Amino acid sequence: MSATIDVWNPNLGEQLTQVPDASAADVDAAVAAARAAQREWWAQTPREREQVLRRIGDLIDRDRDRIAEIECENTGKTLANALGDIDFAVEAFHFYAGHPARAYGQQVPTADPDLLCYTRLEPVGVVGAITAWNYPIALTAVKVAPALAAGCGVVIKPAPETPLSTIELAALAREAGLPAGCLSVVTGGPATGAALSGHPDIDKVSFTGSTATGRAVLAALAANGRPATLELGGKSPNIVFADIDLEASLDAILMGALANSGQECCAGARVLVQREAFEEFRDLAGARIESLRVGAGTDAASEIGPLISARQRERVSGFVERALGEGARIWARGEAPEEGFFYPPTLLDRVGDEMEVWREEVFGPVLALDSFDSDEEALRKANATRYGLAAGVWTADIGRAIRFVNELEAGTVWVNSYLEQGIGAPFGGGKDSGFGRELGELGPLEFSEVKTAYVRGARGPS
Ligand code: NAD
Repeated sequence: MSATIDVWNPNLGEQLTQVPDASAADVDAAVAAARAAQREWWAQTPREREQVLRRIGDLIDRDRDRIAEIECENTGKTLANALGDIDFAVEAFHFYAGHPARAYGQQVPTADPDLLCYTRLEPVGVVGAITAWNYPIALTAVKVAPALAAGCGVVIKPAPETPLSTIELAALAREAGLPAGCLSVVTGGPATGAALSGHPDIDKVSFTGSTATGRAVLAALAANGRPATLELGGKSPNIVFADIDLEASLDAILMGALANSGQECCAGARVLVQREAFEEFRDLAGARIESLRVGAGTDAASEIGPLISARQRERVSGFVERALGEGARIWARGEAPEEGFFYPPTLLDRVGDEMEVWREEVFGPVLALDSFDSDEEALRKANATRYGLAAGVWTADIGRAIRFVNELEAGTVWVNSYLEQGIGAPFGGGKDSGFGRELGELGPLEFSEVKTAYVRGARGPS
């Protein structure tokens, strides 16, 4: 029997199923199939491709409840979060269904009336997509929908922890009429990912994961001279001024760091509070964190689910232990069930900007608090990070808000909100958080190339 990997249910800490651990030969076969199918897909009319993309969205929507159940069991997400991710996936296919008919080039004026010059958009070819465990179906859709809309074939490798909803989505794409092989799933871990990103017949990789792995992917691509879009980690600041209604904003600020159990690339886990509001904020946040209902994602009452794995729980626990060793203090902590991979939501204060927990991505339900006295100090502390993914600012002063939008070094800045994301708006980071943008009108352009044509004889017979 060929090799397999175990897939777990983090709510219970039990094995759920097994999936194949795809070998380099399996990746070869998937890439070859995608190459052949991509030609067939691109040969279809824009209207035909639009209909298939729209149908994929419709079928995900038809199976919404069934997929939500799979996603909750496999990730520990709360039902509301899982349904939100599935609706996002539906919307992505519907949004990008309009792209094939809209994708046009440009006529470029020439000095010679007999010479026509124009550009047209063409697919890059076969895309390797590699995703992280935290938003399995949403990340799949964010890559697959625009890549198919651009006319590409896709081989996707989901995170080894959470392959199930990606497998479902690929089956629905076939049911919707996508040519066989045009979207293939290869399940497996780092070796499968490396075989895909280093494959000589891949034209582009779209990667979501950690900064360290992103660099390994980039090195593999460099050897073949192929490009990447990298959506990597973050350590985002969330800046709270004293002029807001703290109680009214509290949940959105806390959930900016704790949603998805903190396994959130944009987690606003460095909360900077203006000094005069610091103690009041810490008291309110502490009380709310202690009252959070932590439980299985499959239980509708849960506000926070488990972490993805026992390994991730150990990793989070290690960050907190080391922070305490460096002088941080646990100001408040929630309750967490014994069974399953739970970690209690934790609020740390006495955190200095040199500490590991302030600088590195924890990817768990851990919030660190610090204070500031002036706008300049808030900006300096917020930007003192190697990451550049996201940031938040909470203030009633609109002029200050816009100054912060301009000066925060982040791909997305939220004002008086956090973690909003629309399909139509680009998403991505800078610095060690990666490069390139997903979503929005730019989405399919990341999977397209411009061809320039010069046509002599354009004037026709005189
Ligand atoms: P990870 O880097 O360990 O793994 C990501 C994916 O890469 C997985 O599918 C994994 O199997 C694969 N992989 C591992 N080694 C590989 C290699 N050498 N070559 C090719 N592929 C390889 O990340 P993770 O722990 O699964 O996810 C958490 C990280 O993802 C966090 O850093 C988080 O911030 C980041 N993330 C970023 C975004 C974003 O949009 N910026 C979104 C979600 C998660």
